[in-house]
Amino acid sequence: MASYDTDNIFAKILRGEIPCSKVHETDHALAFHDINPQAPVHVLVIPKGPYVSMDDFTAEASEAEIAGFWRAVGETARILGVHESGYRTLANHGRNAHQEVMHLHIHILGDKPLGPMLEGGSVPPDGLYSRES
Ligand code: AMP
Repeated sequence: MASYDTDNIFAKILRGEIPCSKVHETDHALAFHDINPQAPVHVLVIPKGPYVSMDDFTAEASEAEIAGFWRAVGETARILGVHESGYRTLANHGRNAHQEVMHLHIHILGDKPLGPMLEGGSVPPDGLYSRES
């Protein structure tokens, strides 16, 4: 898997170098609106630590980071109000899942019927995976 790139866009958001539309923040997580929403509610929740994806997060993060992060996902959904009508959480890891930003993020999607869980599709351009070792 790719090593963590400290210049990825979500690392810059965490450092305050570029803005985001914040929904929630805890010691372990930051939640903000997706810049290109795929549903009326589309929010991303990211851990504050330097994790590329669910793979290294679940292998290397501390119990406190993992618990804190997942609690923040649930809190964010409740803040958004989608816990009543239903929502989907989604995390892309790697090429086949079409991961585009190499900092772990959970998508929270909701406020409309979301349809089938999966559709087929293409993979992103090769350049995104050039740091794989
Ligand atoms: P993924 O394909 O799972 O890596 O999703 C990356 C998501 O990040 C996409 O839904 C993008 O719209 C979103 N995104 C990219 N840049 C930003 C940004 N600066 N602020 C908020 N969302 C972003």
